[in-house]
Amino acid sequence: MQVVIDDARLKPVLAKVEAGERLSFDDGVALYRTSDILAVGHMANIVRERLHGNITFFNVNRHINPTDVCVASCRLCAFGKRVRDPKAYTMSHEQVWEAAGHGYSEAVTEFHIVGGLHPELTLDWYCDMLRGLKQRFPQVHLKAFTMVEVAYLARRQKISIRETLELLRDAGVDSLPGGGAEIFSEPVRRIICDHKIDGNEWIETAREAHRLGLKSNCTMLYGHIETGEDRVDHLIRLRELQDETGGFVTFIPLAFHPDNTPLQHIGKTTGFTDLKNIAAARLMLDNIPHIKAYWVMMTPRIAQVAQRFGADDIDGTVVEEKIYHDAGATTSQGLRRGELLRLIREAGREPVERDTLYRPVQRTESTFTVLV
Ligand code: SF4
Repeated sequence: MQVVIDDARLKPVLAKVEAGERLSFDDGVALYRTSDILAVGHMANIVRERLHGNITFFNVNRHINPTDVCVASCRLCAFGKRVRDPKAYTMSHEQVWEAAGHGYSEAVTEFHIVGGLHPELTLDWYCDMLRGLKQRFPQVHLKAFTMVEVAYLARRQKISIRETLELLRDAGVDSLPGGGAEIFSEPVRRIICDHKIDGNEWIETAREAHRLGLKSNCTMLYGHIETGEDRVDHLIRLRELQDETGGFVTFIPLAFHPDNTPLQHIGKTTGFTDLKNIAAARLMLDNIPHIKAYWVMMTPRIAQVAQRFGADDIDGTVVEEKIYHDAGATTSQGLRRGELLRLIREAGREPVERDTLYRPVQRTESTFTVLV
């Protein structure tokens, strides 16, 4: 198809995309500087269809956040609470296990488990929680703990990242989600999340996980005080680690939601910025298989359009989302499987239910089989 490119800076980028060549730092900056969103989307769609044809993936999952108590106080966050905050909560093991079985009748294939950095919950406590989940839901994949949580548990336990990951894996962790990466630029990180591990430590923790054979996702938080150059730097650092380990499955660009955070003077991202970040990620991350348009964060409407701007996944049923809703998200906390199918079919894509590792799933309402 012949496409009209308004911005001349994008013509060499298009030539590289058509030839299947890797994009440079400067190409990435050009993608972020242009307002020619249709050209960027067109190029991202070329790559997306080359990799996945007409398929859009989704999954039937449930989020579990065992606690919102957190010692870190990141300025970007509306979820974490101090331990004495009357609104803070910490679930018991029994409450976690009970919550895991609640929600939609459809059998979930994945529990996505993340939470705050609690000053008292120990690594043993989390391992017992995982073993209890595995015992009760042996078929369900446990995608649990951001690199930030893993590094915090290692520090509290006074053991290495590797030993921590081994203990979590032996207790039931099957893979790791990609949160906590935020933006790797140190000057920005010092302002938005200065108590959190730095970018190098995030990368090093992901490297250790991948070396142990644990797959993970990866993310980037955009729409706060970062520049286009910061975004490109972040993407290239993820791409370099992926060249080395091959352990990232999916990249999820996450829009900053400012409500109820100390940075709430910053405006919310627009659909234009959300689509630009999906497309730029698809183009820069040539070695990460999947780009997810996380509907909770960007709304189901934008997630639909994103399937034409580089995204091949719109995430899952989720059931009970807390982190973005504490920051003012107005989307529902979960979607039924049928609604996800409609969002994908209306966009002209073919829905494929996947498990966490993108193996197709065949199901009835209450049971599922992973097709290997
Ligand atoms: S972003 Fe994570 S580490 Fe930072 S305060 Fe919120 S829950 Fe804690």
